[in-house]
This record gives sequence, C-alpha cells and structure tokens, in this order.
Amino acid sequence: MKIAFIGLGHMGSGMAANLVSAGHTVQAFDLSEAAMTQAVADGCVAATSLSQACADAEAVVTMLPAGHHVVSVYAQVFVHAPTAAILMDCSTIDVETARQVAAQASAAGFDMVDAPVSGGVAGAAAGTLTFMCGGTQAAFNRAEPILARMGKAVIHAGDAGAGQAAKICNNMLLAITMIGTCEAFALAEKLGLKDQTFFDIASKASGQSWSMTSYCPVPGPVPTSPANKDYQPGFAAALMLKDLTLAMQAAGQTAADTPLGAKAHALYEALCSQGHAAQDFSYMMERIRRGA
Ligand code: NAD
Repeated sequence: MKIAFIGLGHMGSGMAANLVSAGHTVQAFDLSEAAMTQAVADGCVAATSLSQACADAEAVVTMLPAGHHVVSVYAQVFVHAPTAAILMDCSTIDVETARQVAAQASAAGFDMVDAPVSGGVAGAAAGTLTFMCGGTQAAFNRAEPILARMGKAVIHAGDAGAGQAAKICNNMLLAITMIGTCEAFALAEKLGLKDQTFFDIASKASGQSWSMTSYCPVPGPVPTSPANKDYQPGFAAALMLKDLTLAMQAAGQTAADTPLGAKAHALYEALCSQGHAAQDFSYMMERIRRGA
C-alpha cells in the first residue's frame, strides 16, 4: 500500500520505519531536513512537498506537534489526497479540533480516525504503541490493519474525537498517580523507611499502580525506570504538561469537576518553569522531596 506519512519527528520516524518493514511504500514529508534524512535512511521515499506525498496515497498518517499543525496540514490533505484514502491523525490534540477536522474530512468525502498513541518514543520504535481511535466503525475497520503494524493494541473508543478523549483522560490519571506515588515515597523516607522496603510493600498492597511498579520514580526498585538514568525521558515533563493542559481545557468545556487534575497541571507547570521541562515526568519526585 502507498502511505503518505507527514511528521517524522521523535515518534513519527519510528512509526514510519515500522510501516516500511511491513512492506508498505511510505511517502514521507516533514519540514525538517534532519527528519527527512532519517526517513530516507529508514527506507521511506522522500516527497518534496505535502501534495507530492499525498497525490497517489491510499492512506495518510500524520504525527504532528499540536492542533494548529493538524488543521493546516489537513487543509492541504483534503485538496491533494484521493478521497479513497483513509486518513489517520496520530497526534495528541484537543478533542474539539479533532472533531472539527473529522467533520471537514467527512464533508470532503474521506474516512478519517483520530488515533493518538500511548507508549512513547521507545514504543514507536519497537512497534508496540497502543492506539486509541475515534471515528465511524467503517473508518476504524480500514485504519486498524495499518495501525496494527505500528502497535500492540488498536482500540475503537467511539465517534470522532473519542481517541483524543481517552488519551487525555488516561494521561491525567497517570499524572495524578505519579504525583501520589512521589508523595508516598517522600513521606515514607521522612518516616525512616527505605525506598526498596516501601516499594516491596506498596507494590503488593493497595497503593500499587503503573507509576509504582513499571515506572517507579525513585532509583533502584524498577531498574528500567528513568529514575535510574538521571530522569532522562522517557516521557518528558513538557509533554505531560501539554496533555494536562488539553485535559483541563476539555474539563472546562464540559464543566467536569477535576480538582486533582487541576492540581497536577499546576505542579507540572511549576516543574517545567523551573527548568525541568526536558526531564522525565517522574522527576516530580525531586520537586516533592524538596517541597517546592
Ligand atoms: P516532534 O516535534 O519530534 O515531531 C513532529 C514533527 O512534525 C517534526 O519533525 C516537525 O518538523 C513536523 N512538522 C510540523 N509541522 C509540519 C508540517 N506542516 N508539515 C510537515 N511536517 C511538520 O514531536 P513528537 O515527539 O514526535 O510528537 C508528535 C505527537 O505525538 C505530539 O502530538 C505528541 O504530543 C504526541 N506524543 C508524543 C510522545 C513522545 O513521547 N514524544 C508520546 C505520545 C504522544
């Protein structure tokens, strides 16, 4: 299949490489020269423009930074791609914009899904992402086999925007459990418990969570967690702040009561403004230990 791939940054490069490995012809376009050089090294065909990438595409995948990039790229995709192409936006963006772009796609005669991901750069490279999809059943059925070549799970969450809704709710919960885990370790330390001892107990008790057992924010108990690598991401605090900002925007629009989400947003905003935006989001541990 001929697949146009737009946006080959940290995430998109690994995803596009997996589509190449699956035997697809990937027509790559990115504004960054470095991203294009990497894409060609990974076996993609370089397109000199977005219109060239899309002209004869049977599918279009986008992996872009934010909602306004998605709006401007799809304005061009709708003009240049054949209407038979299935469109998949894997970027993390706000629910409203995802719904607007999906409505424009439908009006222009395209099937489209929003399909944001969980799994980070390592999951993108390894082909083990989880895709959360929003769109009609027919659009999902067309997108699913393509997304499956880049991930371990492809889940239909509901109508247009439902993928983005699932993504921001999941990441709001992740931020809250991470902060709670950091608080518990910090208090346990002050009470004289060793980190390993508290982990051995809490990981087998009711305080257990993914933040504790897969991504432990203190060095030692989970050797693969970023805490053991000086908090190199992983998942950067800036990206967590981006997702919490989208969650708070959605909470405001729907009048949902999310007091812990709001607190998590404030804490990640402070962490980023203190110069730690590029560190892993579990670096919250150091801030909680310091108490400011
Ligand atoms: P990135 O900045 O590394 O990559 C984005 C790419 O899009 C860049 O190479 C940029 O040049 C390109 N781009 C921007 N505008 C373009 C345009 N008009 N035409 C063509 N190319 C254009 O970002 P990333 O880390 O790969 O993240 C991409 C998306 O995935 C974001 O929405 C992010 O929130 C989401 N995400 C990231 C992670 C992660 O760990 N990095 C995890 C889950 C989800």
